[in-house]
Amino acid sequence: MAGEEAAAGAGAGAGQLGAEGKEPGGGGAEGQQCIFCRIARREEPGTALLPCQYEDLVCFRDIRPGAPHHYLVVPVEHMGNCKTLKSEHIPIVKRMMEVGKSVLQRNNFNDLNDIRMGFHWPPFCSISHLHLHVLAPASQLGFLSRLIYRINSYWFITVSVMHVNFSLGFQLQAENVMSFQHFNCV
Ligand SMILES: [Zn+2]
Ligand SMILES: [Zn+2]
Repeated sequence: MAGEEAAAGAGAGAGQLGAEGKEPGGGGAEGQQCIFCRIARREEPGTALLPCQYEDLVCFRDIRPGAPHHYLVVPVEHMGNCKTLKSEHIPIVKRMMEVGKSVLQRNNFNDLNDIRMGFHWPPFCSISHLHLHVLAPASQLGFLSRLIYRINSYWFITVSVMHVNFSLGFQLQAENVMSFQHFNCV
């Protein structure tokens, strides 16, 4: 347990070096301070938006990729992290996954059995704006990435696990996080 907590701490620290690390700490004023809101409004010239089939979502590369393919899919409108998702958000999460699959296919990655998609569970993510990580090939994640984006760890919730919870009524509560590890569908 203590080891896992230490690992989670390492993961969060490393994550801050990624796209999420651009957040200048704290802030909190939604939209103004949020790096993903600025990217979605095209106010971050250093971050190129990739083609995306939905106007209310944007897709871009993680600036510190954890795998050969590492994209983030983000709603244009500021939404809280995965902890605040409710069943009414199922459609947008599904569309975020569609965008993730499309961007991989557009970049000639077609083995959908070798991908990893998921959300970081707060507080192991410094950006509160909802964002889906899309990584591939999952089999080529480096050591640190395997830790940060570990399937069904309590700091990285893979989408399929969330779907299990959607179907169970979507009771996403912090105290339930550990129970996610009992689900094992990727
Ligand atoms: Zn935002
Ligand atoms: Zn994240």
